[in-house]
This record gives sequence, C-alpha cells and structure tokens, in this order.
Amino acid sequence: MNNTTIAAISTARASAGISVIRISGDEAIMIANKIFQSKSGKQLSEMKGYTCALGYALSNGELIDECIATVFRAPHSYTGEDVVEISCHGGVYVTTRVLRALYDAGAQAAQAGEFTKRAFLNGKLDLIEAESVMDIISSRSKASSRAALNVKEGALSKRINQIKDELMDRAAHLNAWADYPEEDIPAVENTALIDALKVSQIQLEQIVRSYDNGRILKDGIDTVIAGRPNVGKSTLMNLLAGFDKSIVTSVAGTTRDIVEESVALDDLVLNLSDTAGIRETGDVIESIGVDKARSKLQSASLILCVFDSSGSLTEDDLSIIKMVEDTPAVAILNKSDLPSLIDKERLKEHFTEIIPMSAKNADGVNELIEAIKKVCAVGNIDSSNALIYNERQRSLTMKTISCVKEAIEALDMGFTLDAVTVLIEEAIGYLCELTGERVTDEVIDKVFHQFCVGK
Ligand code: GDP
Repeated sequence: MNNTTIAAISTARASAGISVIRISGDEAIMIANKIFQSKSGKQLSEMKGYTCALGYALSNGELIDECIATVFRAPHSYTGEDVVEISCHGGVYVTTRVLRALYDAGAQAAQAGEFTKRAFLNGKLDLIEAESVMDIISSRSKASSRAALNVKEGALSKRINQIKDELMDRAAHLNAWADYPEEDIPAVENTALIDALKVSQIQLEQIVRSYDNGRILKDGIDTVIAGRPNVGKSTLMNLLAGFDKSIVTSVAGTTRDIVEESVALDDLVLNLSDTAGIRETGDVIESIGVDKARSKLQSASLILCVFDSSGSLTEDDLSIIKMVEDTPAVAILNKSDLPSLIDKERLKEHFTEIIPMSAKNADGVNELIEAIKKVCAVGNIDSSNALIYNERQRSLTMKTISCVKEAIEALDMGFTLDAVTVLIEEAIGYLCELTGERVTDEVIDKVFHQFCVGK
C-alpha cells in the first residue's frame, strides 16, 4: 500500500456554487495547512476530526479564494486515512489553482478511483460496496440509486458472506473429519451435506437472477415507439422526454431518422427511440427511415405500439402488429380526447396491455408506466433487495454455482469426500474474489480504473 498523500478535485469540473478538493494520506493535514490560513488563526493540525474552519487558500502567500477546510482524522474518513476537504467557490480556475497549490506543497495527483481504492485497501469498504459507489454516481432514477445505495450499505455483501460462511462451515467439517479420524467429530452425512449445498445453490441463483433487474434499473430498457405515420409517436416521445425533441407535424412521414432519448419515468429508465412511421411508401428517403424503424424493432426490449384511436385499424397497423409479436409490447390507443372508432377487440387478440392515452393532453402516462412494468415483468423489482450490478459480480457468482453443483453431483455419484472438499473450497475462493478478500492487483486496478479522478 503506497503511503503518498494524494489530492484531486472531487466535484465536476464546471462552474458551480462550490467545488471540493480532497486530500488524503499521512501528510494530508500538514500539506493542507501549508496552503490554508484560517480566519481564527487556528492551525489545521490542532483541529479534531469532523471539524471545519473558515479561511483562505493561498498560493505562495498570494490569496486564491475564501474557503472552508474540513478535517477528518484516520480511520474516521472516507479513505480511512487523514483527509482534508477544501470547499472553495466553484470556478474551474480557482479550483485548479487550489489543487496546484496543494501539488506545490507536496501532494501527488490522485489516480482514477484512488480515494475509493484506498478506502477498499484500508477495509472501509469491500469490493462489491466500492463498485456500488460508481453505480450511485451514475444512477439515473430513484430505484437505481436506492438499489446502489443498498449495495453500498452492504446488502449484497451480507448475503454473499452468509453463503460463504455456510460453505466454510461445511468445508471445515469435511477437513476436520478427514484430518482427525481419531477425534470425536460427527460423520459427514451425504444427504445433509447435499441438502445444505442445494440451499446455497438456490440462494446464489436468486442473486444471479437479480442481475437482469439490476441492469434494467441501471442501463434502462431499450424501447422503440412504433406505429404508422401520424398516430402521435413524436408527440408521445416529447411528452415522455419532457421537451420537444422530435418533429411534430400533421404531415405524414416527417420523422425520417431515429430520435433517441433516455427518460426516467417513476422507477424506470426507458431508452426511447422514436422511429419513422411504418407504412408502405414509394418515397425513397422515407423508405430508408421505414427500413431503419423495422430493424430497430428487432433489437428492442420493449415496444410502445401507437395507434390512432380516432380511426379504424389500417393495413399498415395490422402489419406493424405482426412485426411486434415476439417482443414485450404495450398498445397505446392515442388521441383518446377524440371519439373512439378503433376495434379494441381485435387488438386484445394481440396485446395484453392496451392503454388509452392522449399524448397531446398528457393523459394516461401513469397507466402507461404501470403497463410497461407489467409487460417487462419489472413490477416486482425490489430495490431494497441486493441486486448484482456488473458482469464481474455475475460471472463470479456463476462460477460459484458451477462448483456447488459439481460438489452436489460428486456426492450423488459417491466420489471421495476429498474431491467434494476441493470443489467447496473453490466455490469459497470465488466468493472471496467477489467481495475482494482474495483478489489480485490486476482485478483491483481494473475495478478502480472505471472510476473518475477525485472519487
Ligand atoms: P407521428 O407521425 O406518429 O410522430 O405523429 P405526430 O406526433 O407528429 O402527430 C401527428 C398529429 O397528431 C399532430 O397534428 C399531433 O398534434 C396530433 N396528435 C398527437 N397526439 C394527439 C392526441 O393525443 N390527440 C389529438 N387530438 N391529436 C394528437
């Protein structure tokens, strides 16, 4: 563990009310003290942890800005080391000057994710909790930030550790029984061991299943708004996006390219694509848009299929219904402010969720959100549950499951208990890698490299 003292700007590099420059390491307080002069005359080195002082940041005796320095004393800080956070006025120039002054006073530039890496190496967080810090920063909805915060607070680590403890107990019993046959250690019962391993397998499988929910919360659902021209697709897109992005016009066939926007609706993030109206057309340019729309439909996870409820279903409508058959879809009967002429019974043969809406009058959005949750089966995502969020976590959980399954098979087939012990220990190894208890430097570097500087 390197014991240099590091500094970086922890807030975004943009003009803002305030910015925070963070310094961490054995010499954090001494270095910050060189550039900070409190108004009261108190030195930072005299201050207790969790206290702050108002003063000035200086560069070679020249005033940079008025600021507040907060002192955190090891181990009660984010990194577990001595930390000083300097909050100054949030101008890019001022903030950069404070940082330079800290470099001149002896601080090193922090690498990407180095504060959180130090927190991990100092045992303030395990690897799963550290990864969740990134997820909190990149959250785009209430549910995803809540889920990431739960992981940060240890919800997933706790479940993993319970499974690991159970496997360790089993491995310890197997080892003790094999190593000390003359002692009074109860014999290993194959059926009891198989039952216990099956419980662990089920728990691990539940965790893997949470990955899909985690991804929906984190990355959003790829959603295509489809329908023939003039049914109100762009109006719907604008309503959901909250501002005018697509061209809304009463001339059929005017959205020729795909317009994309990520929107957070309640607990859901939808990555929306508004496509060209799908219809048979002789217009060369329009037909390029129609082809793009068709291919976009094939890769969608959700289709919002828009119909004009003030008219009858047309041949174009019917051909679109055919195209969306294999994808979760909601039928939107738009223009519900006008008298309805559409054949709802016919639509019921193809859609489980049919929602009357007036995109123009912003009517029906809540019903649409509920319908989306139903067709995407996300209604039950419990963000207070432990969700796995990334591929590293998923692949290690899958590897653990394979070992546990192999151990069950080995017991079923009457293999020696030695072979079973090896498999259980391998499973424990993967869980230790998951939480970061046993992990190589390469893995640690890879995890923290995805962070930004200052985090
Ligand atoms: P798109 O071609 O499917 O993207 O359709 P647009 O969003 O461009 O809308 C076509 C026309 O329908 C425009 O004149 C809209 O103002 C109108 N329109 C859209 N939604 C509604 C609605 O809910 N009610 C009514 N009455 N008109 C709507």
